Parts: sequence; structure tokens; C-alpha cells
Amino acid sequence: MGKLNIYYAGIGMNNLPSRKVNNILLNVVDHCCDEKSVINATKLIHKAQAINILLDCGGYDIHTTETIGGKIISSPSLPIKYSKKYSPFKYDLNLTPEHVIMAAKDIEPTLIMTLDYPIITIRKGKLSQRGMEYEREKEFRKKLPYNVEWAIKTAELHHKYISKTNLYVPIQCYNLKQYEVFKTQIGDIGYNGFSIPVRNMTLEDIVLFLIKFYQDGIKKVHILGTATFEKIALLAFLAKQGIFEILSLDATSWMQHALHSCYLSPNDLSPCMINYNSFIDKNLKNNCTCLSCKGMSFTEIKNLVKSERDIHLMKHNYYVTENISLELYNNSKDIYTLNTYLRANYKKIDMINPILSLFDMTNFYKDKDINIIRQLIKKAT
Ligand SMILES: [Zn+2]
Repeated sequence: MGKLNIYYAGIGMNNLPSRKVNNILLNVVDHCCDEKSVINATKLIHKAQAINILLDCGGYDIHTTETIGGKIISSPSLPIKYSKKYSPFKYDLNLTPEHVIMAAKDIEPTLIMTLDYPIITIRKGKLSQRGMEYEREKEFRKKLPYNVEWAIKTAELHHKYISKTNLYVPIQCYNLKQYEVFKTQIGDIGYNGFSIPVRNMTLEDIVLFLIKFYQDGIKKVHILGTATFEKIALLAFLAKQGIFEILSLDATSWMQHALHSCYLSPNDLSPCMINYNSFIDKNLKNNCTCLSCKGMSFTEIKNLVKSERDIHLMKHNYYVTENISLELYNNSKDIYTLNTYLRANYKKIDMINPILSLFDMTNFYKDKDINIIRQLIKKAT
């Protein structure tokens, strides 16, 4: 049986959702940009009593900077937030593999990612299928030289300075053909696993990538993106079946939803607004067993002052994410047990059969030719 880990991002000294948070995600830009932030990050790790620390390389910050038209530079000798001509509140983002590894030396994480340049989201919209594929290929090719060079350099420095830390390589590709190109170009640089950003992917796409990784002998995979019920269910099932050694994903939803006054369902993580304007049926009972909710009605939560409600919801949302992940894992012994669990908890009844059929196929056909699996998935969904 493999393991399933949820890494919580957005954790700070003032919003720790539990006395102990086993898996936390920190990133190079926010937590390692100067001496003070490194000291604070070290204190946070200690306070959270974290066991697994994922240090994200900052690819997401590169993506955000690019999206808002900011400048990205690449100079190992300059600071991460490099401000020459801007005010102290605006800066050029300066990230290199050297920054990532030096940050990792300070923080001592258990897992790091090689520096990557994320591909942007390109949806079909008004484009034809061919048009979308053309744009995606262009974007992939534009980022490929950076992704190859940075992966190779980060791995080289990793082996030199922090070889005991797990090293994953982010796969910045839209399809499996591009994955083959990237994998061939980076060659045998020595890594422990892959990570995949899933912004551009359906659950079926994620399954295809995971099967391909499995067939290539990859035992550890991290999913970069939102920890939805469906994605947690998929990873819990594949980990429980022993197809992978460790599967993980990261979650900001516990905090983001709380800040928007959203209570995540203890059954299937579906969000429900709970603020001064919400109408709450008096007969609706809060059946959550978390320490924050115990004995509290929805009306009482609704009437908390905003700052207290935020903290309450963060703790609640964190608890239900942890609890559901554990329950999904424990109920993934086989497809029948998972079926019973989903029917008792998952609100999207129409989705249950397609999800179960996808998971079952993944397990049953995982050793077949990937093109045959693609056809089978297409037919079934
Ligand atoms: Zn609760």
C-alpha cells in the first residue's frame, strides 16, 4: 500500500489550523527571500511540528508575475525579490536553481521541486481543436529550453548540497508526446519523482499521465493544484492499490474558502457560504465532529465576528480535508467499498459511476499500451 499526503499551503504563525500540521508547503519566494523570512519559516516549521515539508521552487510565482506582465530575471548573485527601479512594494522576480538550492539548505525540507517555468492555461474557447493544439505546442516549445536547463541545473546542485532531500521534476506539458520530448531532453539527471500541474487537465488527462508515469517506473508523484474531492479520491485509490509509493497534492482551499466565508462539507468538501447574509434553515444541523464545530450551530458560526469566523472556518476546513482524505483512503480497498462510501457521502450522484469506471479501468489496464488505454477512457467517458 502506498501513502497519500496532503500538503497545506498558506500556513502562517497566526492561522495554524491545528496544534500539529504534519505536511506543510512553503515556497522559495515567500519563505526564503531574505534572512528574516528564513528565520520565520524555521519557527513556523517548529510550531506546526511538521513532519513533511515541501519547498516549492517558485514556479507559481513566475507564472503569476508573467500573467500580470511583471519582469522575470535570472541572476544567481542578486536577491530573489530584486528591486532596482521600483518601489519596495514592486520588484523584479529573480529565480534561479541556485536560489532554490540555497533556500533548501536553510529550510531543510523533505521534498523540493526543480525550478520550472509553468506553461499557461490555453483553453479551446473560440479556437478550433487544431488551433488550440497549435497554441499549446507553441507555448510548450517556448518554455521547454528553460524547463530543461533549470531541471538539469537544480538536480546537479541538489546532488552536491542536499542529496538526502527528495527531488521531484515538474512536468510542464499539455500532452504525453510533449512529456516524452521533455523527459528525453533532461535525460538521466537523477530524481525521486514527478509533479504535474493540473490547471489544464481533466480527471481523465490526469489518469493518463499517472499511468504513463507508473509505466515509466515513477513511484512518487505530486499533483500541483487544487485539492478537490475527486482528485483526492483518485490519488487515495491509486495509493491504496499500491500502484504508487507516495502520492500527494497541495491544498490552499482550507484557507481560501474560509476567507470567503465558505464552510466545506464534512461529506464531500462542497463549499457553502455562511456569513451575515446567509439564510439558515433552523432544522439544518451542523453534524461536523471537528473541535471547532462541536456543539456549535450554523447560526452561531454565522454570527461570529468576521475575524473569529475566518479562524473557525480555517480550522474546520482543514479538519474536513484531512478527515475526508483519510476516509477516502480507508475506503479504497476495492471499487465496491469505494462505491458504498461515495453513495453515502458524495453529493454529485451522477458523477459516481463515471468516476468508479475511470478508477477501475486505471487499475485493470495499467500495464496495457498507453494508446489503448486512451481509447478505452475516451469510449467510457
Ligand atoms: Zn467543523
